[in-house]
Amino acid sequence: MDNDITDVTSLLKELQKARETIRELEGRARTILDSVHAGIMIIDPESHRIVDVNPEASTLIGVPKEQIIGHVCHTFVCPAEMGNCPITDKGQKVDKSERILLTTDGRRIPILKTVAPIELNGRSHLLENFLDISGLKLLQKELEYFATTDPLTGAYNRRHFLELAEAEVVRARRYQCPLSISMIDIDQFKEINDRYGHPVGDLVLTELVKILEGRLRPNDIVGRLGGDEFAVMMVECDLEKALAAMARLRKSVEEYHILTDSGVELWFKISAGIAQLSDETEDLESVMRRADQALYLAKSQGRNRVEIAPPPFK
Ligand code: GH3
Ligand code: MG
Repeated sequence: MDNDITDVTSLLKELQKARETIRELEGRARTILDSVHAGIMIIDPESHRIVDVNPEASTLIGVPKEQIIGHVCHTFVCPAEMGNCPITDKGQKVDKSERILLTTDGRRIPILKTVAPIELNGRSHLLENFLDISGLKLLQKELEYFATTDPLTGAYNRRHFLELAEAEVVRARRYQCPLSISMIDIDQFKEINDRYGHPVGDLVLTELVKILEGRLRPNDIVGRLGGDEFAVMMVECDLEKALAAMARLRKSVEEYHILTDSGVELWFKISAGIAQLSDETEDLESVMRRADQALYLAKSQGRNRVEIAPPPFK
């Protein structure tokens, strides 16, 4: 009898200890959940409803926890994936992907979201954690801008221009579209620098890009190849149309005048050489070389003019 009582007492003690351990573990889990700098949501995979969130998740979404719990997860996280969720709709077990978090005031925050299954109250749930990556995305955009753009004029830099131009050559071949390229160089630019100073020379370069981008078609690609030399990839444009466009552009530049901060008025001129991509075998390097030869001809024929390149030799 005494033995039985001792057994029950020690069992109760064990039970009490187990409860305390569970409480302690729950407390620890809550502290971790509440203190991490990632939004965390627990979702019922059947109803897609949110059953718990941590403070960071409610800060990101912009409303208190009570106004989030009970909502379908797509109300706030990856709204575009409704009915197409890799986990709840497509049977995927885990997911790590870039998604969008929709805040209650309508902002769309890019997030890196990780989803994994978790057992809760004897039922399987989903643990979603997400990090706000808007700062990273902004940085990525800035880096892309600096890697692709000439810092003075805002035109594409040489490397990026060549990448885009190469893609246009491939596209023109595939869809059998005409493609022309124009090389443009400022006439006697050294004199402008010498006479008015380098900052005014810089202003001429930026103004020229404004004219180019303002007068050409939105699909045309403008790049600064270096110094005072620019290239324009004229998409879906044959030699005749390219010549007409460049002749108009040359005239616009000739008629344009710059007024500097110090009150100096100045005019500048350009020369251009144009070539049309010839056939299946001609590559970017070759068509650019021909346009460059036409530019050289324009310079040698007196400048402030546009010349076209003859077809390549076979
Ligand atoms: P041409 O008519 O034959 O083209 O004569 P040019 O004087 O324009 O000769 P060229 O095209 O060779 O001159 C390019 C000049 O551009 C030389 C260089 O000092 C100047 N330059 C290159 N990069 C810059 C820049 O970023 N800013 C300024 N202001 N000048 C630059
Ligand atoms: Mg020049």
